[in-house]
Amino acid sequence: MPLHRAVGCDTTGCLALYLAAPQLGRDAAQFAAVRAGWSVTAGGLTSRCPCCARGGLPVLERGDCPVCTGTTFSREDAEVCHHCGHTTAHPADAYDDEDKEPGEPLHAAEADR
Ligand SMILES: [Zn+2]
Ligand SMILES: [Zn+2]
Repeated sequence: MPLHRAVGCDTTGCLALYLAAPQLGRDAAQFAAVRAGWSVTAGGLTSRCPCCARGGLPVLERGDCPVCTGTTFSREDAEVCHHCGHTTAHPADAYDDEDKEPGEPLHAAEADR
C-alpha cells in the first residue's frame, strides 16, 4: 500500500517521480502530474517527466524537486531544479538573518542603554 499516489517516468534509467497527495485517485494523481508539467498519454499507459517529455536529461539522482524529484541547486531567491526547471522560492525569513548588514544602529543603541 503506497502512502502516496506516485506517477513515475517511463524513460529507461530515469528516476523521476511525481508524488501526488495520497487521497487522490489514480486519475486525479495523473491529472495533477500533467498540470505540473508531466506528459501522460490517455489512460496513463506511458508517462514522462517534464524533462524527458521535452528531451532533456533524465533524472539520475533524486533530489528535492517537488515536480520530478530531481536534484535542485540554490539560486539567490529560490531552489531551481536541474531537470525540469521548477523553482521553489526560499521561505522569506530563513535567509534574512545571514544577510543582515553588520551592526544595525537601532538594536545596538538599545542594548547599550
Ligand atoms: Zn524522466
Ligand atoms: Zn524537477
